[in-house]
Amino acid sequence: MLSHVWSGATLGVDALPIEIETSVEGGMPRYTVVGLPQAAVRESRDRVMAALKHNGLPVPRGAITVNLAPADVRKEGAAFDLPLAIGLMAATGEELFDGERLDDLWITGELALDGTVRPVKGVLPIALEAEKEGRQGLVVPAENAAEAAVVEGLDVYPVETIKEAFDLLTGGGESAPAPYTRDLDALFAEARSYRRCFSDVRGQAGVKRALEVAAAGGHNVLLVGPPGAGKTMLARRLPTILPPLTTAEALETTKIHSVSGSMNGRNGLVAHRPFVSPHHTVSDAGLCGGGVPPQPGEISMAHHGVLFLDELPEFKRSVLEVMRQPMESGQITISRARFTVDYPARFMLVASMNPCPCGHLGDPRRECVCAPGQVQRYIGRRRCASGWCVPAAARPRRWAATRQRTRQMTKPIAARRPPARTATRR
Ligand SMILES: [Zn+2]
Repeated sequence: MLSHVWSGATLGVDALPIEIETSVEGGMPRYTVVGLPQAAVRESRDRVMAALKHNGLPVPRGAITVNLAPADVRKEGAAFDLPLAIGLMAATGEELFDGERLDDLWITGELALDGTVRPVKGVLPIALEAEKEGRQGLVVPAENAAEAAVVEGLDVYPVETIKEAFDLLTGGGESAPAPYTRDLDALFAEARSYRRCFSDVRGQAGVKRALEVAAAGGHNVLLVGPPGAGKTMLARRLPTILPPLTTAEALETTKIHSVSGSMNGRNGLVAHRPFVSPHHTVSDAGLCGGGVPPQPGEISMAHHGVLFLDELPEFKRSVLEVMRQPMESGQITISRARFTVDYPARFMLVASMNPCPCGHLGDPRRECVCAPGQVQRYIGRRRCASGWCVPAAARPRRWAATRQRTRQMTKPIAARRPPARTATRR
């Protein structure tokens, strides 16, 4: 018998519909999955079969063929476990489920061997796509329900075990879950509070003014100052003076966090502007995204928020170079032989650095112990790599004076003598 079950796969920060066709025929027992399944999808067979057996659910016998359509899109991850299991049960030929109801729902979830449904990545893009396709509901792991329920106009059914999903689809049983709903306005109000606030800062009037101007215009900022001056403290509080996220912006940001798998434990919506501070040892792929399967990088995680690069001169030159293009276009395109994905990356860049390697150049309390050459190299490292030059006026005067003196001292003696006067003839 043949069955059709619908699910979704993420590609970048969007999702596309995936139809899972299962055919069970008589003959030698066999299980084949076609349609570009990656390792995790191929391995799903053992999880699905064990989960069905341990819950006393019908297990099909014979030659089983599963097709994941469209066949030219790579299917990654374990999110197809639950729809595969439902498809297998539907194809046993026992008329278990109502065909129309099965067509109206999208299903996603990973299975444990005992039939528990585990959370998956990218539930929000899948929910948005299901709503766009005009489906009535979405069956999701209970832990992802909050995230999916952000989408209006879609019934979200949270399931904790495969038995609950079975009861839901057969329309009977005590454990069938009710649709999960939540109040979006209350959620926004709750999620918009920040633990730290810009109003906590005492003094620092000049820096605060500069940050306010930068926040108003969405300009990038470079903070230069000795250790302990409060650079990081101020940068952390910057998102709190940015305008609140709109619903569209919050959804866009949450989509990125959803596909990166960082939504677990949150209340389902990133409703405040993110603050992302990668360590200076971050790789190109870590900062801008990449890998197989592709994952958004730190600049995309900071979308609609603040990206803070602490100790800017310590970042590798190549890492700063790859940030140039996304800073101009507001998105990054990751192209590999098999796929091309776009991740949005519109952020406010805040970088901080010490004025010199020891950190105390211009500090009234401690004296700098760096040689002028060292300072020049330290500042030059950042200046060349990223194209954000410090204006000449901001460069330490002392450094300029020392350089002039050094140049004078190293000039050949002959060159320092005034030119000899020559008698002029009439
Ligand atoms: Zn120094």
